[in-house]
Amino acid sequence: MSTSSKTAAGANLHTYAVIRLANLDELVYSLGEQCFDLYLEEFEYRLAKTLRPIDKFTKIAADKYHVALNKVSQHSLVELAAAKLIRELEQPVDIIGDRLKFSFSVGFALPRENCSNKDTLRAAESASKEARRRHKPCLIAGSEDAAFSRPDPHLLPRFEQALERGELVLYYQAKVDAAYNRLVGAEGLVRWHHPEENRVIPPGEFIEAVENSDLIKPMTEYLIRAGIARCVEWAPPLTISINVPPVVLETSDILPVVGDALGFYDLEASRLILEVTERGELPKPALQQLEALRELGTKISIDDFGTGQCSLSYFRDLPADQVKIDSSFVMAMNASHKDRSIVRGCIDLAHHCQMQVVAEGVEDGQTAADLKDMGCDILQGYWIGKPLPFEEFERAHLLGQSAEQEPNMFASLLN
Ligand code: C2E
Ligand code: CA
Ligand code: CA
Repeated sequence: MSTSSKTAAGANLHTYAVIRLANLDELVYSLGEQCFDLYLEEFEYRLAKTLRPIDKFTKIAADKYHVALNKVSQHSLVELAAAKLIRELEQPVDIIGDRLKFSFSVGFALPRENCSNKDTLRAAESASKEARRRHKPCLIAGSEDAAFSRPDPHLLPRFEQALERGELVLYYQAKVDAAYNRLVGAEGLVRWHHPEENRVIPPGEFIEAVENSDLIKPMTEYLIRAGIARCVEWAPPLTISINVPPVVLETSDILPVVGDALGFYDLEASRLILEVTERGELPKPALQQLEALRELGTKISIDDFGTGQCSLSYFRDLPADQVKIDSSFVMAMNASHKDRSIVRGCIDLAHHCQMQVVAEGVEDGQTAADLKDMGCDILQGYWIGKPLPFEEFERAHLLGQSAEQEPNMFASLLN
């Protein structure tokens, strides 16, 4: 079987990999710039070491690399290349006494018939986003056997301790009103402050295992309480959104937990938003819990809207107040007419169903302005602010001084 492909014009067709590093800003913050540079140098060194001289990698953004693999057009060879790369990148990295790990997601795509290198690269981009979304280190586009992750047997027992020791914290990511550019609330995103590893572990490294275990229930309850306790410090009507995986609604009675926490901290129920991921139709008892939570006054948001497999009638009947358009559509809407149409369609559909619309993954001012023009209600994304520890979030967004953005950048582009 041939191991290289050619276009009609004779140009070599490559297999591509797109590698995205996660949590770089948090790392700069925790490591300092000098150590952070060493961290990136080590990453690039490992990348170069794994690749053959005929392969080429290019840094195309602070957190993104493109890799062109030459003469690798068999699936099994790509699997081998992927396994080798992941093995190398999963090794810990020692930076001046700190033992760290690379947090990354890789998408591979093989050349397909009648497709250009550009098409393959686009497929690799999507695979890398999907890998990140599914918390997998690697995905090969079109592959059923998508995961290269090896579950760590020590993870869950250690995570249980982390819960007891209070090592889990919420980082807060701002949400702003698209029309007036005002802060409307924050999404709480879990992070694990791991004392032995001396680093902040992103959810991508543990959330899938936790969601598949009994620990998801105590974790979610803990974070609901933590989020409510923080939100009560903020001026009304600022809200807090907490992620609630569907499995929690299916296996536990979350209603008294939410009711007790709201009562204990004396937070108005409408300031709590529960983000439920759209992954498939919820069974009846879970839907009843959502109904009851809404009766209590909490708001329900459908997370990752557009990526699941639910029918439209399901949305009509789902007790929800808000939809969050998945970042994969929002990030692609500048470059792709289809994604732009999907975003517009989601906004119209949600509004017709009397639901509010949040766009997540807003990474630039043009996207923010376009979403505003399309009538989107709320924006969330790196362009507005990254997830931050509460002190920094409050400094950046509640006291009006952003540590990460130029002052008034957001206002000047939107108004
Ligand atoms: P999600 O709920 O869709 O959260 C949004 C993710 O997108 C966050 O990643 C956030 O940092 C990232 N993000 C936000 N804006 C941008 C942007 O403009 N560009 C890019 N490239 N990314 C952006 P994070 O914090 O790593 O969380 C990943 C996923 O882990 C979450 O996706 C959610 O599924 C899960 N997760 C996070 N915190 C919790 C939690 O407290 N409970 C549960 N059950 N799951 C959580
Ligand atoms: Ca969410
Ligand atoms: Ca989401």
